[in-house]
Amino acid sequence: MVHKFKVTTSGKSEMADITRQVRGIVTENGVEEGVCHVFVPHTTCGLAINENADPNVRRDIIAKLNESVSEDFPYRHAEGNSPAHIKSVLVGPSLTVFVEDGALQLGTWQGIYLCEYDGPRTREVWVKIIKA
Ligand code: ZN
Repeated sequence: MVHKFKVTTSGKSEMADITRQVRGIVTENGVEEGVCHVFVPHTTCGLAINENADPNVRRDIIAKLNESVSEDFPYRHAEGNSPAHIKSVLVGPSLTVFVEDGALQLGTWQGIYLCEYDGPRTREVWVKIIKA
């Protein structure tokens, strides 16, 4: 079974913390040992695990991605959001976290983030937990 939830982003670029939602699915699922796959079915956002303490880390990541993938380039894609598609490819649409003792195994300073590059939008996050 794939568990789905929605995230509404509020800016053009942001990293929305979805750790609580993913942890909740793992807890409800009741799997003691396995892997938790997280996936976004979108082409202009992504998923990342990164620091959950200093919000400036997220600001720095967004700022550097925006600088690295310039808006000012003769892109051919008529929709006008090629930078968002490129950031999605760079960061990736999925990740995997171990589940042990019924809990998501993240490092102390790690959180799971939906990385929005073409917001604000409502995004879906899909979670599948495989028992090991
Ligand atoms: Zn597009």
